[in-house]
Amino acid sequence: MIPLLDLKRQYQLLEKEINSALVRVAASGNYILGPEVKAFEDEFARYVGAKHAVGVGNGTDALRIALKALDVGPGDEVITVPFTFVATAEAIAELGARPVFVDIDPRTFNMDPNLVEGAITPRTKGIIPVHLYGQVANTEALGRICEARGLFMLEDAAQAAGAARNGRRAGSIGTAAIFSFYPTKNLSAIGDGGMITTNDPAVAERIRLLRVHGSAKKYEHTELGYNSRLDELQAAVLRVRLPHLDAWNARRREIARIYDAELAGLVETPFVEPGCEHIYHQYTIIAERRDELALFLKERGIGTAIHYPLPLHLQPSFAYLGYKPGDFPVSESMAKKVISLPIFPELSDQEALEVAAAIKSFYSR
Ligand SMILES: *Cc1c(COP(=O)(O)O)cnc(C)c1O
Repeated sequence: MIPLLDLKRQYQLLEKEINSALVRVAASGNYILGPEVKAFEDEFARYVGAKHAVGVGNGTDALRIALKALDVGPGDEVITVPFTFVATAEAIAELGARPVFVDIDPRTFNMDPNLVEGAITPRTKGIIPVHLYGQVANTEALGRICEARGLFMLEDAAQAAGAARNGRRAGSIGTAAIFSFYPTKNLSAIGDGGMITTNDPAVAERIRLLRVHGSAKKYEHTELGYNSRLDELQAAVLRVRLPHLDAWNARRREIARIYDAELAGLVETPFVEPGCEHIYHQYTIIAERRDELALFLKERGIGTAIHYPLPLHLQPSFAYLGYKPGDFPVSESMAKKVISLPIFPELSDQEALEVAAAIKSFYSR
């Protein structure tokens, strides 16, 4: 059996340190917004290269709170991609704004900057590029558009902790950025967790209020907010793991090099844009007869996943936006062809070679 991801191996690696962090918090009597969250925010901000980091309940809340802090509300439009996890667009819609989709670049799976100008209207407030699978979107081209048109750029870096583009880490590039520490992400908690980073002190301050019911002073509320804090226990675990993130991302790249070499010519392996440091949150290939391949691997005990099988503009929950099949042909085509292979730092070379061998035997039948 080779699972897509094995969270137990990840825990066992640092079992002692994690257990003692958990006990330290339990014994402290300090459970909400205590010293662990404060310390992790500082450590994470420094790691990413952003001035401020604010811990929140999860990545979805991070999107909502960041958008609210960037003044998104009813009547506004925010441009994003339909080829992402649902949360990216859900957060826009939940604030009463309209998600406006643009298609992706077929080589990188990320927002195609050439399509953004055409989607801008007088109601457009900003854009949310997603650094899908762990590769930073084309933030140079997107940044030029945002600057010229007075738009914010909110990076959805939920899959990209540690990824970089031309020397700048995800989370330090846009007006603000969001991260998720959901257990399957490449920097993960043992439950839910999220973070917002920004270089703008006013945005950071507003986010700090929004996560505690819009309150700077106890029982005084300047605006409607949320109850969404990074948990003290999760912060303590994340502090144990963050120092290992670069080594883990490097190991992911090693595994990717094995797949790249073994699968060349059989499937389309991930394209890495010049200047990008891909961290392979997912190793996602474009494969002929994708569904048959998934079944073949499953029968041999190899875990795979489809990220993502139905683009957001075709989801029933977004039917009210009025999009139709054919509107975003690249996203629709990728949804039918992509498949993600097992990749996590504790996966052995031998296991990666076995996955590759199974794929070779599928295409040689
Ligand atoms: C995981 C993820 C989110 C949401 O994070 P949660 O912590 O699960 O709420 C948002 N965007 C993307 C691209 C994600 O992969």
